[in-house]
Amino acid sequence: MTEILMKSKKCKACKTTIKYTGRGRYPKFCSAACRQRAYWKRAQNLPAMPLRLLQKDIDHMTAKTRLVRALERLGYTVTLTRVGNPQPLKQPALHVVKTDASKEQ
Ligand SMILES: [Zn+2]
Repeated sequence: MTEILMKSKKCKACKTTIKYTGRGRYPKFCSAACRQRAYWKRAQNLPAMPLRLLQKDIDHMTAKTRLVRALERLGYTVTLTRVGNPQPLKQPALHVVKTDASKEQ
């Protein structure tokens, strides 16, 4: 029996060596159990994503606040100025809505 071994890769979940026989695409996992374990691990991390983004925003704002406070301590007055020409906010169009009494006329 001859087995063609093209390449060997490590399983993404358990890091054991996967033997690739040369048929089909390269397997990423050594077994269905490892594939499922990796799926659950990814799925558990998904809800944490918005929290991480929020923490990143908070860190960003904290850094900006510290910069403003440091400039103020040095005697500067920090003011907000809009850069560029902002588009004016469009007012929503108003429509005349007929009441039941005006429809009958
Ligand atoms: Zn594995």
